[in-house]
Amino acid sequence: MSKVVKFGGSSLASAEQFRKVGDIIRGDSGRRYVVPSAPGKRFPKDTKVTDMLYACYDLAEAEEDFGEELKAIAARFQEIIDGLGIDISLEEEFSMIRKNFTQKSGSNYAASRGEYLNGIIMAAYLGYEFIDAAQVIFFDKQGNFDAEKTEKVLSARLAECQCAVIPGFYGAMPDGRVKTFSRGGSDVTGSIVAKAAKVDVYENWTDVSGFLIADPRIIDNPKGIDTITYRELRELSYMGATVLHEDAIFPVRQEGIPINIRNTNAPEDNGTWIVGSTCQKSKYVITGIAGKKGFCSVNIEKDMMNAEIGYGRKVLQAFEENDISFEHVPSGIDTITVYVHQDEFMHKEQKVVAGLHRLAKPDSIEIESDLALIAVVGRGMKSTRGTAGRIFSALAHGNVNVKMIDQGSSELNIIIGVANEDFETAIKAIYDIFVLTKL
Ligand code: ASP
Repeated sequence: MSKVVKFGGSSLASAEQFRKVGDIIRGDSGRRYVVPSAPGKRFPKDTKVTDMLYACYDLAEAEEDFGEELKAIAARFQEIIDGLGIDISLEEEFSMIRKNFTQKSGSNYAASRGEYLNGIIMAAYLGYEFIDAAQVIFFDKQGNFDAEKTEKVLSARLAECQCAVIPGFYGAMPDGRVKTFSRGGSDVTGSIVAKAAKVDVYENWTDVSGFLIADPRIIDNPKGIDTITYRELRELSYMGATVLHEDAIFPVRQEGIPINIRNTNAPEDNGTWIVGSTCQKSKYVITGIAGKKGFCSVNIEKDMMNAEIGYGRKVLQAFEENDISFEHVPSGIDTITVYVHQDEFMHKEQKVVAGLHRLAKPDSIEIESDLALIAVVGRGMKSTRGTAGRIFSALAHGNVNVKMIDQGSSELNIIIGVANEDFETAIKAIYDIFVLTKL
């Protein structure tokens, strides 16, 4: 079974972590393609190498002295090389980086050097071939990922080698300049490499044993998720559950390649499987709960709204004209409510209200702030009676006032609006009823 293995920054922050990674890779000959991040934090107050590179480059850009900062970055890599006892020198690489920084080669180039150098170390440590991502991963003139060109060049290149290290996070523009994905983008590289190499599994190694049913900052020791579908994951990540970069799903999804999230510090754990579809039922009817605070609701009332064709469009146009995206739009016969992000909406509030009066001529508009949205997600809900009933009786027992209910038409999720201050209580109540309470 062939695999792409991607390791996050904390898995590669020190020589000790590199050793664990080496053991994992050597433990399975299918682990042929390795995608490393830059060294992350060794301890909570530490700085990620990527952040050091950005800060160092800012000095270069301002034509200030960046010698000390670059030295500190070189020291992070040297510590790993010495700790592993491998015989390589990054001296030439660093003089090139210094020269390019002085010539203002751009912050994308600067940030990418963390993955690039870690890739060189990893390849030397494993005895794998090193493939510079700038030679095989491409962006178009507008800076969008060029899937077609990448697939062509990368798959041909990978076919030539048995085992290789391809640094994460960056690629090249048509003129050869380095460009990065957004932060956390090595996850995306891993997925692109998995697609091009047509492997059986994309293993994504990090510092947690996969996805948890709920946020551990709210629930003590929440249970893990064994299997989750891409669609469920989209719903949960959108609502704030973060382990994997959002865009990492798409390349492997097209090929039906599963992603397995694993823990470098607990390799014996099975982690979470992310799959296209599965006949495996989730243990608890629901797969996960996630949510976010900081929403506003704009409630619009007008008599006979139901008879006025195009009313919804006029309402939404007032938001669109102000460049505000909406989250949910529950409606009644004579009412429609638009949920928006408070921070986006706040300073445009009166413009939107004026727009609503001009376009939709409502009888009244009422705005409520400090609301939270909670998504209860689960492929099992469709075929299970009483899921909504259980959620709302749990919330009633928890003394939580429900302000909005929206069941997605795919029956994959139920979205609940509550006051910000009820957010944690609501999540605890839902977790309790599904995970801790025996039926
Ligand atoms: N090193 C980059 C970051 O810190 C990319 C990554 O780790 O995926 O965002």
